[in-house]
Amino acid sequence: MALNEYRAKRNFAVSPEPKGAEPKAKKTKRDALFFCVQKHLASHLHYDLRLEHDGVLLSWAVPKGPSINPADKRLAMHVEDHPIEYGTFEGVIPEGYGAGIVMLWDEGTWEPLVDDVSEALRKGDLKVQLNGVKLKGSWALIRTKGGDGRSWLMIKHRDEWAGPIDITTFAPLSVKSGGDFTDIVAQASPDLWTSNRAAKGGQTHMVKVVERAVAIAEENKAQGATTDNHEGATARRRDGDHNHDDTMTRRHEGKTKPKAQTPKARAAGPEPKAATTASAPARSTRRTPVASDRAARSRATRNRPR
Ligand code: MN
Repeated sequence: MALNEYRAKRNFAVSPEPKGAEPKAKKTKRDALFFCVQKHLASHLHYDLRLEHDGVLLSWAVPKGPSINPADKRLAMHVEDHPIEYGTFEGVIPEGYGAGIVMLWDEGTWEPLVDDVSEALRKGDLKVQLNGVKLKGSWALIRTKGGDGRSWLMIKHRDEWAGPIDITTFAPLSVKSGGDFTDIVAQASPDLWTSNRAAKGGQTHMVKVVERAVAIAEENKAQGATTDNHEGATARRRDGDHNHDDTMTRRHEGKTKPKAQTPKARAAGPEPKAATTASAPARSTRRTPVASDRAARSRATRNRPR
């Protein structure tokens, strides 16, 4: 079955990752499809793009992360299908396959821009529309020739959501908790701090992961402190924070698909031109990804159990 490879790689006795139910019946065309990007600090930092299809999450590991700059061709390694429940997972994988920290970096819905997704996968040419908090607009996923057939490229189309901003640097935090990798460790595995301090040699994999998490958090803070007036090329909608929080909830409740962007919210975004000239100094009162991340972080802090 589709999840055999996923399960074979993991020991669910030690990993908090979901085992996954059997894929359910196919959705009808009208149902919104879930997508997410999980930022995964393991042996190497990478971003996992996941697209719901036929009851599982099609998955690609993108070492440099998605780009909203059409000039970038981001390598995307096609990996094993993941269970739908994985899509909102955020936490610490203490050991084994993928040991490290998983952050829900973006989520939302996606729409195939092809008639037949399975056929597009076979052909190695899938066009997608992403309606995320950070990623919006359309991308091409193109399998490269040669190799083992797992290498694809993820390329942003030139649309109104494209721009020369490095979105991974620009909006580095979780859309679920608002936090950074270090916050996820503090929340999911606080004992990791203690045990890692005890492991003075710094030899174990998780010690390195946590050290890297601290370094990344410091970089992010430095970024935020020096460039706190970013204008998002992706133009987070004003109601973005509300939308993404309950995307999955609504999906599971079988209600109508998550709100499409409202004309009002769209109007709050930049003009198409502005989106492609992110260096333009136009300042507005729109909330920036950084500011929103911060707001989300303080919410998460308040909710954190003692
Ligand atoms: Mn991964």
